[in-house]
Amino acid sequence: MFRIGCHLSTAKGFLAMGRTAESIGANTFQFFTRNPRGGAAKDIDPRDVADFLEFCDRKGIGRILAHAPYTLNPCSDKPRVREFARETLADDLLRMAHVPGNAYNMHPGSHVGQGAKEGMRLIAEVLNEVMSKDMETTLLLETMAGKGSEIGGKFEEIIEIIDMLDHKDNAGVCLDTCHVHDAGYDVVNDLDGVLDEFDSVVGLGRLKAIHLNDSMNPVGAAKDRHARIGEGRIGLKPICAVINNPRLRDLPFYLETPNELPGYAKEIETLKGCRS
Ligand code: FE
Ligand code: FE
Ligand code: ZN
Repeated sequence: MFRIGCHLSTAKGFLAMGRTAESIGANTFQFFTRNPRGGAAKDIDPRDVADFLEFCDRKGIGRILAHAPYTLNPCSDKPRVREFARETLADDLLRMAHVPGNAYNMHPGSHVGQGAKEGMRLIAEVLNEVMSKDMETTLLLETMAGKGSEIGGKFEEIIEIIDMLDHKDNAGVCLDTCHVHDAGYDVVNDLDGVLDEFDSVVGLGRLKAIHLNDSMNPVGAAKDRHARIGEGRIGLKPICAVINNPRLRDLPFYLETPNELPGYAKEIETLKGCRS
């Protein structure tokens, strides 16, 4: 089954997001657990969750993906910032327990000059405090473009963090096509080579979701500016190759392109059209 959706920016409750997803032809979606800049999350309404689960069942919507606020930095050099990341992640995972069996994606963090080694150690330290053996949410680390002191621009860094986790069975990876492209992985000319590399470094079994984005910048630019599908340096054909690749096609795909809902609806239609 082709699982395709997009990032929904307004979180007016789960049922509202499910309805919005359906209205644009999506059968999954990504959402922020709270304001992307951090801050308090709205209380979970058990009635809304129950209605949502029933709606998903009826409409075939599933494998939703939560996204952590991108201001979290579990490998900051400031203990207060790391503590805020820990508290937010812990609270988000509690909230995700209301919709078990889905995934929660986060940016690993930026080591802000302490070095990648120390950064990865600090990230694993925070994750080991918030993850548990019995959690029913898969925590995903997103592949990053590697801008500034960002960790996760190399597949090696992703697996190094996962290898330090106590409950690594509950961890996975979300591959962002714009990010890996910007990090220097040539998904345009050598998608299979990139996947071979991912497989040998991380293991394709760890790959749980794809962020489907075009990129405004050339391969290796370490920039992270998303473009609409077919309007960037990756292009429509290589993106269609991603959604049809035998090693990727059963994963859920989430668009994070610069679009409002009608633009997303159009992209979803285009991608359904090139799905083989
Ligand atoms: Fe992200
Ligand atoms: Fe992304
Ligand atoms: Zn990005």
